[in-house]
Amino acid sequence: MKIDLEPIIAAAKTANPQLPEDYRDEGTGLLFCGKCHTPKEKNVKLYGDERIVPVMCRCASEKYEAEEAARREAERQRRIERRRENCFGCGSRKASFTFDTDDGGDPQTMKLAKGYVERFEDMKARGKGLLFLGGTGTGKTFTACCIANALLDKGYSVRVATFAEIAAKLQGNWDKEEVYKELARYDLLVLDDLGAERETSYMDEVVFTVVDTRSAARKPMLVTTNLSVEDFTGGPLAKSRIYSRLYEMCLPVAVNGRDRRRERMMAETAADMAMLLNAGGD
Ligand SMILES: [Zn+2]
Repeated sequence: MKIDLEPIIAAAKTANPQLPEDYRDEGTGLLFCGKCHTPKEKNVKLYGDERIVPVMCRCASEKYEAEEAARREAERQRRIERRRENCFGCGSRKASFTFDTDDGGDPQTMKLAKGYVERFEDMKARGKGLLFLGGTGTGKTFTACCIANALLDKGYSVRVATFAEIAAKLQGNWDKEEVYKELARYDLLVLDDLGAERETSYMDEVVFTVVDTRSAARKPMLVTTNLSVEDFTGGPLAKSRIYSRLYEMCLPVAVNGRDRRRERMMAETAADMAMLLNAGGD
């Protein structure tokens, strides 16, 4: 079947109109761009006929490619932001935790966190995650969210969740299996504050199923917890089978940063404290 090329040629002519500075090449008679001095037409054989068809000169095709690249980059950014919203939940403060906003309180842990992002492709292939152990206010969640944000920026899919959030999602969903399957799809799953969930056999089952599903898919998890190393390595906990699995899949990191919440609170109240102490006299 012969395709009617005339509308295509006409459209190409409209897209590459002849401009006042354009000129005809003396030898070939083809139209040249007055700006970049490359052809805007070329001779082709179409179904046996010689035809002159419009083509993009160099500056037009460079402009087109730049526009395409900008469009692709804007689309990539939109996808990242959609994923970020899904990762942290709409309006979560955690979405603003980035390496740039680190206060330098625990350089060793930060260095390791950046290294994890740098080597994520390898860690992902090995299903290897991190286990942040440490007390309240040491910056475990902050550091985990820095990693999440950096990986999102690199185009990975990440989800940050607590077991309380996962349980709520399961409750509101008929298809429980789909909830677990979705959690297994992310390149990285961050389980924030493990051990803070309610102590029920149902919750134990949720923890078990999430960890088991991820582990079966050989996909990494990043876990933050107030629990101690002993809880993971054969303590008296009924959950020890799943905790020891987590311990195998994650590199344990003792996060020993200063107690940042306490420090921030002290800084915020310092002026009032001084005022009250002053007013109190001797
Ligand atoms: Zn041109």
